[in-house]
Amino acid sequence: NLTQRLARVMKTLRGEARLTEANIGEALREVRLALLEADVALPAIKDLIAAVREKAIGEEVIGSLSPGQALIGVVHRELTKLMGDAHSGLNMATQPPAVMLMAGLQGAGKTTTVGKLAKMLRETQKKKVLVVSCDVYRPAAIEQLKTVAAQAGVEFLPSTSSEKPVDIARNALDWAKRHFHDVLLVDTAGRLAIDEAMMKEIAELHAAVKPIETLFVVDAMLGQDAINTAKAFSEALPLTGIILTKLDGDARGGAALSVRHVTGRPIKYAGVGEKLTGLEAFHPERMASRILGMGDVLSLIEDAKKGIDEQQAVDFAKKLKSGRGFDLNDFKGQISQMRKMGGLSSMMEKLPAQFSQAAGQLPAGGEEKAVARIEGIINSMTPAERVNPELLKAARKRRIALGAGVQVQEVNRLLKQFEQTQKMMKQFSKGGIGQLMRGLKG
Ligand code: GDP
Ligand code: MG
Repeated sequence: NLTQRLARVMKTLRGEARLTEANIGEALREVRLALLEADVALPAIKDLIAAVREKAIGEEVIGSLSPGQALIGVVHRELTKLMGDAHSGLNMATQPPAVMLMAGLQGAGKTTTVGKLAKMLRETQKKKVLVVSCDVYRPAAIEQLKTVAAQAGVEFLPSTSSEKPVDIARNALDWAKRHFHDVLLVDTAGRLAIDEAMMKEIAELHAAVKPIETLFVVDAMLGQDAINTAKAFSEALPLTGIILTKLDGDARGGAALSVRHVTGRPIKYAGVGEKLTGLEAFHPERMASRILGMGDVLSLIEDAKKGIDEQQAVDFAKKLKSGRGFDLNDFKGQISQMRKMGGLSSMMEKLPAQFSQAAGQLPAGGEEKAVARIEGIINSMTPAERVNPELLKAARKRRIALGAGVQVQEVNRLLKQFEQTQKMMKQFSKGGIGQLMRGLKG
């Protein structure tokens, strides 16, 4: 994973005064491997690496914290740029109805997405929406759209499997015109794999209804395979946008870059769940972090301006991710480390309430002495006690307090703070790094 790779990359670059063709070579090889692991297709990787190389060498990195950090920043930025700019919504600048045609393989999520778009258009843009199914091959498909339309609260125009898809679409367009619909969403049949008949049919549908939006719906879980599908559809149809589905799963996001690379079209929305509410505007920057598998590391590095060791930041992120047991050794490390990152409280106030509360229990930022005392107390513990604080009964606590030159109450307070933090860490690892990052980014 890139988190680990980057640790190595940054080590390689440490101490170098600036980025050069020579010293970023190895680092870029690591980035390339990491992108392959994230399922990004080769041609897209090539373009990205070329762009990064060009941007990284020279002016732009001078004055940055360290060459390693600068390079990672460049990779992230270029990746974001390659995936598109700000969110572009659906185009409706036409004489109503605005026709939108869905294209994609069977199971990609077309029917579900029709429901999601219909709901969004109706609720947030107050549009009068009509949906129709041209999927005459699977008897259940038309019923499925009917159900989805009811859930979305939009009008469904019945069709039957004995009709021809092109006729269904033409009739629907006629109906929509006569009933003053703002939008007509045309659901289509997909096949399990690309085939000639399907491509011919969708091209005919396109010619018949002349949609203002031709949306390619693609399953993010397809990974590298998405590239062939995208190629076939973009050759058969003038696509206007992409909808990437099933991003709520554990897809690594490489499909986004690949599909964008092949079609050159904007990714307009992301499907993030089976329910009709599971639709989000596509955010290139978030996707870049996901592809790099390092949203956590990136923002930790951003916070690192106060001189934190990058390696530590990476280790910290890794630990959070792995959800491994958090003991007093870690606690000691975290306290001094987070303080360097601008104070625990500044980090915590961006997190949900239950975390902020725990943070309030910790010594206030900027107090070197408080840290020193905590370290003193923990240093007075045996290694076994640090790993297993349950051992700390009264006699042991007295011994530790004596050793550190503090009162027993202070040892107790520290243990309480530790428990709070431990609970917090467990929450993080349960909610996943994603939850943590969403929290941090506000
Ligand atoms: P179609 O064959 O292209 O019309 O695909 P469907 O809309 O029937 O979706 C196929 C399956 O994928 C269904 O079980 C959907 O519930 C599911 N699905 C669609 N979009 C998403 C999504 O964004 N997230 C998840 N988890 N499942 C989705
Ligand atoms: Mg369908």
